[in-house]
This record gives sequence, C-alpha cells and structure tokens, in this order.
Amino acid sequence: MQAVGVIGAGQMGSGIAQVSAQAGYHVYLADAKLEIAERAKEGIAKQLNRLVEKEKIDAAARDQALARIQPVGDFEPMAAAGLVIEAATEREEVKRAIFEQVGKVLGHQAILASNTSSIPITRLAQASPDPKRFIGVHFFNPVPVMGLIELIRGLATADETVKTVETYAKALGKQVVHANDAPGFIVNRILLPMLNEACFALGEGVASIRDIDTAVQLGLNHPMGPLTLADFIGLDTCLEICRVLHEGTGDPKYRPAPLLVKYVEAGWYGRKVGRGFYDYSGAEPVPTR
Ligand code: NAD
Repeated sequence: MQAVGVIGAGQMGSGIAQVSAQAGYHVYLADAKLEIAERAKEGIAKQLNRLVEKEKIDAAARDQALARIQPVGDFEPMAAAGLVIEAATEREEVKRAIFEQVGKVLGHQAILASNTSSIPITRLAQASPDPKRFIGVHFFNPVPVMGLIELIRGLATADETVKTVETYAKALGKQVVHANDAPGFIVNRILLPMLNEACFALGEGVASIRDIDTAVQLGLNHPMGPLTLADFIGLDTCLEICRVLHEGTGDPKYRPAPLLVKYVEAGWYGRKVGRGFYDYSGAEPVPTR
C-alpha cells in the first residue's frame, strides 16, 4: 500500500495525515471544502517545522513529508488509495454520507476505516460498499505524540482487513490493541464517565474548574485535569461519546452532564475554538466560571 486517503482535516485528520506522510505514504487529504484541507496542510507544516526546531527530524524529512500531502477538493483521487480513513465530525449521518460518497470511487481491494470515538463499527459498515473491508481505526490526540491505536472489528470485518491495517499502524510506529465493537471501545468506555463526572461535579458546585483539575492531576497523578482534557478532546466530541455510551448501553450512568450540554450549545467546544471550560485567548488558559 502506497497511498492513504484522510477525510476530515480537523485536529485528528491533520495528525493522521502528518504521521502517514512521515511514514512514507502519499496522503490525499479532504474536508468539506478544499480550502479547509489546504489550511490543514499549512498547520501540518507548522507542526513539522517545530519538530525540525527541536531537532527531532531534519529539514529534508520535513520537506518530503509535506510533499506527500495532497489536499483534494473531492474524493475522486482517493481511487488510488489502499486505505481511506474517515476522521470527520462525530455525527453518524455525516460519516454515513461520506462512506456512501467515497464508496463510489474506492478501489476493489481498498479498505475503508473510521476514526470514530464511539459509533458502532458494525452499524457504520452498513453505509460502506463492503463491510468485510471496513474497520475502526481509533487514533489518540495529538496523533503524532500518542503511541496507541485501537483497532475495532465490525461483525463482518475480514482477517485480511485487520492484518493490512495492523501493518499500516506498525509502519506509523504505533502500538495496536484490539477492541470489540462495544460502545466506547476500551479507552473511551473508561475515560468518558470520568470526564462527564467532572462536569457534573462542576455543575453541582462541588468545586471550581481549577480545583477539580488540580485535585485530579495531583491527587491521581494524571498528566492533566479532566476539564482541561475535555477541552483538549473537544466538548462536542465528548458529548457525542457520552450520548453513544448512554444510548448504546441503555444505562443511565452514562447520561451527559447538563453543564456539558450547555457548553456545547453555547458553541464553547474547547481549545479548538479558543473557549471551553477555559478561555484560551490569552497567554495562559483562564477558567470560564
Ligand atoms: P474536528 O472538529 O477537529 O474535525 C472534524 C473535521 O471534519 C472538520 O474539519 C470538519 O470540517 C470536517 N467535516 C465535517 N463534515 C465533513 C464532510 N461531510 N466531509 C469532509 N469533512 C467533513 O474533530 P476531531 O477532533 O478531529 O474529530 C474527528 C473524528 O475523530 C471524530 O469522529 C472524533 O470522534 C474522532 N476522534 C477524536 C479524538 C479527539 O481527541 N479529538 C480522538 C480520537 C478520535
């Protein structure tokens, strides 16, 4: 396999495009509009420049990786890709529409994968041209830094599909774990109830944003507090995962915290929009409550 397609050039898609290009794959990068994919490539260039400054890669490696990333305005060029990874907004109807559209140009051997955080793979596979060649490939944020990929088999996913994607993941230098197609897979099944509980605690006035984050960071020895992490993941994404866990299990313990819903309704999605539980417009994040 020489080329991969990445659909959705947000924080995850940009990271997936970057690490794939650094591993030597040609990357077709698409979003809802060509300009978004082009802007994402500019963002990747900045990330690669930072790696050069830190002497983690040299200028030639940066230039080669950048040259391999091709922003595209439609899915046609993805006919040449052996693997197409969808990393668009965490909404099922958005993903289904993408699979139907890209499915029309996908090669007969090509694999379609979703980076979904929580939507059942077996169900998503129904919108793909061949569920045998459909799989969940769950990267972590920020993709260039985080060493894990969860691979999620749908009911119909073929062994060959798993093997091909495992080879790709290893080429990226990532550690693979295998999860069954259950709501939230492994990491989010365990993480999201904690982030959601932090939102309940804040909403119920248990403590301030800073104290909740400091308590968990220092009291549990986590690298960052749960509200900082939720901002980093994106509050819209967190809410969608909570809803999928809630609906997928029918268990009320996964119901989204009202305050999380409110922040998302306000458009305060976290770091990616400059405001979530913290305001990121200044030099230092400032709590919003
Ligand atoms: P994001 O909001 O940064 O990016 C989503 C991108 O999808 C945007 O650029 C948007 O324009 C694009 N998009 C929307 N509709 C589209 C369409 N019809 N065609 C093409 N592009 C479209 O979100 P993100 O954090 O990068 O998350 C993307 C996916 O990755 C989601 O499924 C999310 O659950 C998953 N994910 C996120 C994280 C995380 O920590 N943020 C971690 C693992 C997986």
